[in-house]
Amino acid sequence: MLETEILKRGDDSGNGTLVKYTSSTGAVIKAIGVPQAWRSTLGPTWCYVIEGEDLTLVDPGCYGSLTYLEQGLERLGRSITDVSRIVVSHGHMDHDGSCPPVIRKSGAELWAHEMYAFMLQAERGDLERGWRREVSGFKAFENSETMTRAIEHRELNRDLVLNHPVTDEHQAGGLTFYYTPGHSPDELCILYDQVLFSGDHILPLITPHPSVAMSYNSYQATLPPAYNGGNEIYGLKALLTSLKRMAALEGDITVLPAHRAFHRGQFNPIGVERATEILEHHRDRCYELTEVMKKGPTDMASLTRNYFSNREVESHNFFLAFTEVMAHIELMQEAGDISTTVDPTSARTWTNGLGPDVLVSWAGTDLFSAFIDQL
Ligand SMILES: [Zn+2]
Repeated sequence: MLETEILKRGDDSGNGTLVKYTSSTGAVIKAIGVPQAWRSTLGPTWCYVIEGEDLTLVDPGCYGSLTYLEQGLERLGRSITDVSRIVVSHGHMDHDGSCPPVIRKSGAELWAHEMYAFMLQAERGDLERGWRREVSGFKAFENSETMTRAIEHRELNRDLVLNHPVTDEHQAGGLTFYYTPGHSPDELCILYDQVLFSGDHILPLITPHPSVAMSYNSYQATLPPAYNGGNEIYGLKALLTSLKRMAALEGDITVLPAHRAFHRGQFNPIGVERATEILEHHRDRCYELTEVMKKGPTDMASLTRNYFSNREVESHNFFLAFTEVMAHIELMQEAGDISTTVDPTSARTWTNGLGPDVLVSWAGTDLFSAFIDQL
């Protein structure tokens, strides 16, 4: 268990809040609730500060939110120029967005999983758009403020140099790194003392959005050799496998997540058992989807609209809801519960099993459940 002390109170979701955590062994970690740079219901990204001989920053926070990080560090009596090491949990802009200016001002080393270097390549964007463009509602998603910023952010980050690429179970600087792909193909959980910085892999109150296995097909040819021999890094199967690994970590470990550590005026302390709750949430979601598929073969867009509420599939949200459903259907298909039929009159160009014009039929089985147990 960690002792928790609020050093500065911010708003009810933790924006602008500073926290000091002390472990039973006396290790101290400070946390800065760095707000997102635009209106968001997510709350801040929690950026963690470890002060030793060097100052290590786990995630510098959202693209466009540098001033909040600077203010936070100043209130801790430190400055951006003191940062000697940035550890990135994964290459999404609410986590690594401030890397370029922090590195410019401090000369800090950049540490991340070796797949992060692949994430930095701007060309990825075009590969990604291929199949996504086929999904109705992708335009709305691509034109949303979040995506416009993400594209800007990717351009700015492409010049970053990954000084210290890490792999699974790498140990250095008092940190142990665990490779936990699924939400993102470069996701890391980082163990320090009895604390696991979980990035977006394990979150309280909310669940990380799974990537889709389809992305592996888009990227396979361009992936580093160690990762292109079979998909273990994209999709729900990868996410659940990674959740199981973290749930199995031994010891009295406290999880410090990148979001929702504090929400509506309250801390939400979690341990690694939260990873099992998230896994069970996805198993439940598979069961819920079978309820909708009972009605007969359906295309995935209709399935998405029938499964989620109207608000959840509004404009740019639709694409996220669609890929959430797709991640589950992919897993159920691999488990043997789903068959697909392609509409022969369709002019669309999906090449791989699932697509917007593909009808999915449920076999009436729940092989996915045993499949999940065996991961
Ligand atoms: Zn995030």
